[in-house]
Order: sequence, then structure tokens, then C-alpha cells
Amino acid sequence: MPDPINVPVPCTCPQAHEDGDVVYLAPKLGLRGGLAVESAMTEPDPTMAVAWALITNNVVGWTKTDANGDPEPITEENLDALLPYAQGGEIVSNRAASLYLEDAFGPFEQRRKDSLQRSRTSGQTRPLLASHKPSRRKRSGSSSEPASDGQPSKA
Ligand SMILES: [Zn+2]
Repeated sequence: MPDPINVPVPCTCPQAHEDGDVVYLAPKLGLRGGLAVESAMTEPDPTMAVAWALITNNVVGWTKTDANGDPEPITEENLDALLPYAQGGEIVSNRAASLYLEDAFGPFEQRRKDSLQRSRTSGQTRPLLASHKPSRRKRSGSSSEPASDGQPSKA
């Protein structure tokens, strides 16, 4: 396994580390992290969800310790509490973004482009909201819906 990336951050431990703390980030976006980012893209606020997914899935170690000097486990709660935004959190987040964003969005962008092209060429551009219409019955006799064979309707 390749060496992790060391990210120096200010110490926030009860027993202060004179040299500050270090957060270790995975050198590459792993499969789990990539899938987490993919999933986060569908969140109402993807920016926040993606950034958080990048951190929670890629911090592989740190020097944070509790009041007894024992290592703090890396959990989402601890990441939140022990890496305050202004005391390492923002540093780690930025570092994670620069390390992984390309890996995270490369495949995603490519697939999005592919699927955009597919849906354009197959003519399936029906708006999602159409299915929310209360009634399908219409009074006008003419066929107002385009044929389902994907031919563009000429006005
Ligand atoms: Zn510390």
C-alpha cells in the first residue's frame, strides 16, 4: 500500500502535541470513496455532501488523542469535533479536494456526457413532470403526444 499523504494541522488534543497534529489522507481516491462521491452527487446539496464524502472516506489516520493520550478513532463525529473548520478542517478539506476531485469527477463527467448523448440520440426528452399530470384524458381529439418511436414531431 502506498504511503499516505501527511497533512499537518493544528493540535486540538487535551494533551497538546507540541509539533501539532497530522492527518493522513489516502494517496488515491479508493473505490468506496469514489462510490460515496457518486452517491453524494444526488444529494440536495452536492457541494457539501461531496466534500464530506471525500473527507470521511479518505482520512486513513491521524495523531488525535483523547485526555488519556489514547488515539481517537476516526469517526464522522470525531472528524467533525476534532477537526474544527478553522483548526485543520478547512486545510484537510482543501487538500482532499485537490487530491481526489479529478479522480472523483472524471468518470462521473464522462458517464454524464455519454448518457446525455444517448438520451439526445434516442429522442427521449420527455419532461419528468409529465407523469404528475392528474389526468391523462384530454378533450382535444388530435394526438398531442409525440409518437413513441422517437421521431421528432414537425410543427
Ligand atoms: Zn494533538
